[in-house]
Amino acid sequence: MDMMTMNLSRYKEIKKTINTVLVPIGMVEAHGPHCALGTDVLIPREFVKRLEEKIGDKMLMAPEVAYGHSWGLSPFAGTIDISSEAFSNYVFEICRGFYKNGFTNIILLNGHGGNIANLEIVAEKLADLGGRVLTLSWFIDYREQIKEIASEPGHAGEDETSLVLAIDPKLAYTEGVGNHEIPIPKKLKFKDGGRTLYPEGFSGNAGAASVEKGERLYDLLTDLIEKDIEMLWEIESKQGGRLNGVTVDS
Ligand SMILES: [Zn+2]
Repeated sequence: MDMMTMNLSRYKEIKKTINTVLVPIGMVEAHGPHCALGTDVLIPREFVKRLEEKIGDKMLMAPEVAYGHSWGLSPFAGTIDISSEAFSNYVFEICRGFYKNGFTNIILLNGHGGNIANLEIVAEKLADLGGRVLTLSWFIDYREQIKEIASEPGHAGEDETSLVLAIDPKLAYTEGVGNHEIPIPKKLKFKDGGRTLYPEGFSGNAGAASVEKGERLYDLLTDLIEKDIEMLWEIESKQGGRLNGVTVDS
């Protein structure tokens, strides 16, 4: 259920039975020369659309956090990088707001690699508060399954580019776009290292992306995300049901 278009009367009504909120987390950054700058927002949006059709009656779909943290891509034009400190505090406070509203199950649906470490901090702080938090980064959590469809995934790589093309073929192109391996270990950091890590701002075989692969990836990934959300609800019921959120007025 979409929060942005919901009135307060309806919101109060659904809060009586729903305690799960999904917050999409994105990034605005360079995605090679070929993929939309908003890729990390657009893909989670599409997941939300598809999840809404399947299990949308059981949760609130919150507005997205569009800007995130990207140390690696910060030397590239098109990247709007928020510091780890500001970003993690901001996301935590948004989620704390939902917790206070009674949403004790919080799903962070993340579209961007640079956010992951910060979202771990957010999840731990929310868990300490009393929340139950599920953090999903589709490109990491389901990487092995993704490779069965897009064998050379990466940042704006075969998987991401395909997922963007499947939303709208005008959002990306593959012509003349090559295959970039990450040339140095990611664990090694130095100033402006992203320029070495991501030649031309991407990794993986973007040239092999297609609308058809994107469609297959959406089917696969939406199912996997749905299964993980069902797992959250299953664990909730094993743990004895709803946690006690610090509710504001009902
Ligand atoms: Zn991305």
